[in-house]
Amino acid sequence: MNDRHLDRVERAGREAEERGVDALIVSPSPDLSYLTGYDPMPLPRPTLLVIRPHADLAMLVPELERPLAAASVEDRVRLVAWRDGSDPYAAAASLLDGAERIAVADRLWGVHLLGLQRELPDASFSAASDVLARLRAVKDPDELEALRRAARAADETFRRILEVAFEGRREDEVAGDLAELLVENGHTRAAFTIVAGGPNGASPHHEPGGRAIRPGDAVVMDFGGELAGYLSDTTRTVVVGEPPDGFEAAYAAVQEAQSAAVDAVRPGVVAQDLDRTARGILDAAGFGDRFIHRTGHGIGLELHEPPYIVRGDETVLEPGMTFSIEPGVYLDGRFGIRIEDIVAVTADGVERLNRSTRDLQVVT
Ligand code: ZN
Ligand code: ZN
Ligand code: ZN
Repeated sequence: MNDRHLDRVERAGREAEERGVDALIVSPSPDLSYLTGYDPMPLPRPTLLVIRPHADLAMLVPELERPLAAASVEDRVRLVAWRDGSDPYAAAASLLDGAERIAVADRLWGVHLLGLQRELPDASFSAASDVLARLRAVKDPDELEALRRAARAADETFRRILEVAFEGRREDEVAGDLAELLVENGHTRAAFTIVAGGPNGASPHHEPGGRAIRPGDAVVMDFGGELAGYLSDTTRTVVVGEPPDGFEAAYAAVQEAQSAAVDAVRPGVVAQDLDRTARGILDAAGFGDRFIHRTGHGIGLELHEPPYIVRGDETVLEPGMTFSIEPGVYLDGRFGIRIEDIVAVTADGVERLNRSTRDLQVVT
C-alpha cells in the first residue's frame, strides 16, 4: 500500500462522511486493489476492508491469509484475523461498533452481506458505488498513462491483423491471432477477442466459433487486453473483398455517429447526451432500432465500469474520466457493424486513446 492508495482511502472516507455513511466495507475486487493494492482471490471466506471516517483502517482477514495481507498492507492497515470454525461476521461486527449506516462495495458477495445483516440488525445497508464508482471514474495521471499504453497496444494489434488472411479461416482462428498480437504488442494478457463474420456480426457479443469467413463478409472484431492492471477495448469492422448490399451506407452512418459522439466529449457534458448524439445520427440514417445497445461504458481496472454512456446516466463529465464510444448497427441474418474507441476527458475537450484508422478496411 503506497501513498497514492492512502490518498484514495482518505478521499473515500471523506466522501462517505459527507454522505452520512459511518462505514464502507470493501471485499476483494477491483475496488479493494484500487484502494489498497491488495488483490487476493475472492473466496467464500470473507476478507473485509472497513473504512470509517476518523478511524484507523482495519481489515478482517482469514487467519490463513494474514501473511499475504500483511505483506501487502500491514504498514497501513490493522489486520484482524478470524479462524476457520469461528464466526467471521461476529468478528466483523466488532469493527463496526456504533455504525448505523453502512455502505458495502458492489462486489461483496450476497452471503457476506446476509451475515453482516444478521450480526447488525439495526444498521442500514446501501451500495458503496455512490462513493467508490465516482472516485474510480476519474483517473489519475498514472492510470491514464496505463490506459494510453493499453490502447496503443490494441491499435497496433489491429494494424497487424489487417496483414493476416481472413477468407477461408475460422472465426476462432482469427480470434487466436488477435489474442497473440495483443500480448506481442505489450499486453500482459488478452482479456477477450470477439470475431464475428457475416450474419454472426449481428450478435454484438458473439462467441467466435467454427464458421469459416467468406468473401463478402463483414467481420466485427472487438478485442482488448490488460496492461499494468488496466484494460484496452476497441472494435473495428472490416470487409472481405466486395461489401454486401447496403453495407457501405450503414458503415458511413456508424462512423459518423462515432465521430460525432467523440467530438462532443468535454468537461461539463452529461454522459447520456453523448448517447443521444450518436443515436440521433443513426436514427436519421434509418438505423435507430438497429442500434441495440448503449453508446459506451467507463473503463479502467474493469472493462465495464461507471460512467455509462446511456440514457439515464446523468454523470457530469470531468477531466480524467475514460470510457468507450461504440455505436453499432446490427442487421439480423446479414451483418453487424461496430466502431469502438476509448477516449479520455481532458481539461477542455477529449483525447482519443485509440487512433487506429476508422475508415473501412478491405481485407483478403
Ligand atoms: Zn460489449
Ligand atoms: Zn469492445
Ligand atoms: Zn466496450
